Amino acid sequence: MSEASLDFIREIITEDVKKGKNGGRVHTRFPPEPNGYMHIGHAKSVLLNYGIAKEFNGKFNLRFDDTNPEKEDQEYVDAFKRDMHWLGADWEDREFYAADYFDRLYDWAEQLIRAGKAYVCDLSSEEISEYRGKAVKVGDKIITPPGKDSPYRNRSVEENLDLFLRMRAGEFPNGSKTLRAKIDMAHPNLNMRDPVMYRILHTPHQRAGDKWCIYPTYDWAHGQSDSIEEITHSICTLEFENHRPLYDWYLDQLGIHHPQQIEFARLRLTYTVMSKRLLLQLVQEGHVRGWDDPRMHTIAGLRRRGYTPEAIQELVKRTGVTKTESIVEFELLEYCLRQDLNKRAQRAMAVLDPLKVTIANYPDNQVEEFDAVNNPEDLSAGTRKVPFSKMLYIEREDFMENPPKDFFRLAPGREVRLRYACLARCTNVVKDASGKIVELHCTFDPASRGGEAPDGRKVKATLHWVSAKHAIDAEVRRYEHLFTKEDPLDVEEGKSFLENINPNSLIVLQGCKLEPSLASAKSGDHFQFERKGYFCVDPESTSGKLVFNRTVTLRDEWAKIQKGQKK
Ligand code: ATP
Ligand code: MG
Repeated sequence: MSEASLDFIREIITEDVKKGKNGGRVHTRFPPEPNGYMHIGHAKSVLLNYGIAKEFNGKFNLRFDDTNPEKEDQEYVDAFKRDMHWLGADWEDREFYAADYFDRLYDWAEQLIRAGKAYVCDLSSEEISEYRGKAVKVGDKIITPPGKDSPYRNRSVEENLDLFLRMRAGEFPNGSKTLRAKIDMAHPNLNMRDPVMYRILHTPHQRAGDKWCIYPTYDWAHGQSDSIEEITHSICTLEFENHRPLYDWYLDQLGIHHPQQIEFARLRLTYTVMSKRLLLQLVQEGHVRGWDDPRMHTIAGLRRRGYTPEAIQELVKRTGVTKTESIVEFELLEYCLRQDLNKRAQRAMAVLDPLKVTIANYPDNQVEEFDAVNNPEDLSAGTRKVPFSKMLYIEREDFMENPPKDFFRLAPGREVRLRYACLARCTNVVKDASGKIVELHCTFDPASRGGEAPDGRKVKATLHWVSAKHAIDAEVRRYEHLFTKEDPLDVEEGKSFLENINPNSLIVLQGCKLEPSLASAKSGDHFQFERKGYFCVDPESTSGKLVFNRTVTLRDEWAKIQKGQKK
């Protein structure tokens, strides 16, 4: 990596290493709260922290910041681990839990009480925020008038130690007391106005069991956990910038190893929500089929949809590390994905909306096999045999009875190439009583076997097709954005982001016809269905019934032309 290409975080770390800070060590971590599934925003943080540790020959921890047992679950812990492995971020044996530090955090809290830096407060959470005050606009300035001291602020050390012990022992009901740091109720930064360190919560913890009925707040647990793990650079997102003074204050009061917190801008993508809370709502209320629904921007959802780790890694690389928030076009992620799948996805022919074609001059029971290239981008992937016979399927949209000028595909009297097989001309259109086209009759040129005519005559279109006799049936699930708006959170006052859900984000196609080589496709396999896009096998597939997800389209020039005509 050349120094010129360093982002600001890597610059800070390079300087620190040069100066010999932390003995030249670099140690990062990814600290998720296990209260939902990992989403693509987390992936940015994972890859950044993991990447930095690798580049600087350092260490990388996975730490679950599990301080809120009401919302957390082992299922989420397992999912984060699975998704991180899949993304290619390896924490080796460095897997930690804030819950394992609860004893130490408790001791440190007592230390602050003894130093007169923390007190037990009987105000309710509403009273606490009222006493802390809030930012107000005066003219065009935002100011934070001083807050009001809690009446419990000057309890003696002895009383505080006694009450804190009794909080821990379970003597008091939820919400009746908190432990607060004694900092400054007039501090311009509201986070410094005697923040809560512990709250009472009579709820067992998924890891610590029923040992505790008081739990540390995020701010109290986070920095100290970083310190215990000897993290050198605590990289987080911008919303923690105004928590940094508190992060620093706790570490300074305790006099323990002091990591440096550095903030960067979150990844935001159009048409997505990136908050576990909102994703949970989508799941719980049944707007999607689960955390791994292919329309979800969770890692589990993207994986099931057919996204690859490489595509996500590439997106993260291209969007870089900055201090200013911007929204990345979803199309960039799709672009990264196409680049990757183009290299790796085996080609296949699949007809999603079949229209029957009879080759009138082809012998009734004959079957021929043509060679098809598995991947033109990777010739080592070889070729496969595709059977051809008298009855075929083509895509219904590849035929028009009365084509406009710029429609080059099949039409009455017109000749096209059937990919890998031959040239064929449409001679007759068969309709049912309602006038719907149900079948085409074509003739093929026996001299064009393999796809080229000996006289070198040109045709304007090459169609994909499947032999009817050999076709396997499949269900194909086509997805659109889950939201109709680029910013799903853009709603009128008082309305929910659910208003922006796209009611047509899933379209299920039954009776799709696939070439027979796909019979052996397995869950997770990627394919490019020629001319139709990239697809992957859904885990709900069974040997009797294949189910494919459309991962992403190929660029559709025809759709663009149509759009142009509409204008
Ligand atoms: P969420 O609102 O989705 O729950 P969070 O920040 O509360 O997000 P955490 O589990 O606390 O979720 O996040 C773990 C780490 O991932 C944090 O360091 C956080 O800064 C980072 N992170 C979360 N969302 C993004 C994002 N969109 N882009 C980059 N990093 C993110
Ligand atoms: Mg969080």
